[in-house]
Amino acid sequence: MPRILEPGQIEALAQGAIQRIRLPERAGPFAARARRLRQLAGAGAIGQSIGDYLQLMAAVADAQEGTLTTLDPRLPDVAELARSRTHRMPPIEARSWPREPAWRALAAQLAERVAAAADIPESARKELAQVRNLPPEWLEAQADALLSDRRGEIELAVAPFVMAALQTYWAGLASRLSEEVVPALEVPGVCPACGTLPVASVVRVDRRSQGYRYLHCALCATEWHLVRVTCSHCQGTEGIAQHSIEGGPEAIRAESCDQCHTYRKILYQENDVSVEPVADDLASLALDLLMGEAGYHRGSSNPLLWQQP
Ligand code: FE
Ligand code: FE
Repeated sequence: MPRILEPGQIEALAQGAIQRIRLPERAGPFAARARRLRQLAGAGAIGQSIGDYLQLMAAVADAQEGTLTTLDPRLPDVAELARSRTHRMPPIEARSWPREPAWRALAAQLAERVAAAADIPESARKELAQVRNLPPEWLEAQADALLSDRRGEIELAVAPFVMAALQTYWAGLASRLSEEVVPALEVPGVCPACGTLPVASVVRVDRRSQGYRYLHCALCATEWHLVRVTCSHCQGTEGIAQHSIEGGPEAIRAESCDQCHTYRKILYQENDVSVEPVADDLASLALDLLMGEAGYHRGSSNPLLWQQP
């Protein structure tokens, strides 16, 4: 339960009108991301190298959508769900959920599909071949490092592809859960389904969520409600400010907090209905530079871009 509500929200909450979480659909989330990445890659203001990277990630998102439909993951059983409810723990917690070896087959399939895409840069083919050919233990160790964000152990060049396979697997899991089995957590800063940090937040305009802000999970694509003008990192409500690039898109801003000195991007569907958290965050590196210069650091990284710590 949020601590502070905006006017009108108290009433809405009393009526149970706020959608607390939005689980991903079983089909479509990665297709929407691919479309948005291509749209952003084609936008005039974006540099050539970022544009090429967005195109590559669009091919990744297409492959994710294609493999998502072939997935049949094991879901938490009754005892596991009861335990999650009792301890108010995420039911498919990223670090502790016993992921099936099938995710590695997914990684191989994904790499194959991306490598077959016509418009990817030659340099990416080496990493894609690596994902297909490296031993299972290596892939498992990379997955553990990525899910626990242990920077020193992450192989940066292949990380986006390994992460993409993990995202597909976890989105497949999350899309098969029902809202009732996902408990409200003590810690509002992480995904209530899988316990991962959000990549960005989005203020939605559809009928059930109109005007409400949702944090978007970097792993399983679940979204959860967080009251606006609240820091998504420390939940502070003082010293929150918004920043944007002068003359840049209206739909994307950075929300900073002067208590913990972090920021995350916030997207406004009212300004552009097709915003997508992972894609728009990736395409707005200029805003990250601005925030870095202003002395703020990112709340968490983009799942499709891994850089030196
Ligand atoms: Fe999640
Ligand atoms: Fe904060």
